[in-house]
Amino acid sequence: MNRENKRRKYDKRYFKTHPCMDAFTCRACGRLVVPEGAGSGHRNHCPYCLTSVHLDDCPGDRGSDCHGRMEPIGVWVRKNGEWAIIHRCVICGKMSSNRTAADDNPMKLMAFAMRPFGSLAVSGEHVKNMVASMEDRTEG
Ligand SMILES: [Zn+2]
Ligand SMILES: [Zn+2]
Repeated sequence: MNRENKRRKYDKRYFKTHPCMDAFTCRACGRLVVPEGAGSGHRNHCPYCLTSVHLDDCPGDRGSDCHGRMEPIGVWVRKNGEWAIIHRCVICGKMSSNRTAADDNPMKLMAFAMRPFGSLAVSGEHVKNMVASMEDRTEG
């Protein structure tokens, strides 16, 4: 194990300050997702189908044991004009917003932007939590 890996394992805050450079296989569409091309340090969702995995309690901490699939349910635009994807965990219902990456499928993003937000699967409580997490993270 090299030093970087060791730090990743023992320092919970590692992902807040370091880019995630691991390739992973998307659980939803099965494609291999590599870090190259994301245009930002953190690639936390599949650029093809935009699915993510519930790994974090707080953004970037990898503190969750849930590991459920997080489906993209919508997109929104931040104050600075940057697009973000809203993900919802299929197991526990946690919602979070994540910056889009440079090579995210633009047609998928548009499709979610057009989709009316608010299905029966999304409770008011979830929306409240999500709005709170958006406010926390406007620094981006
Ligand atoms: Zn995928
Ligand atoms: Zn979850």
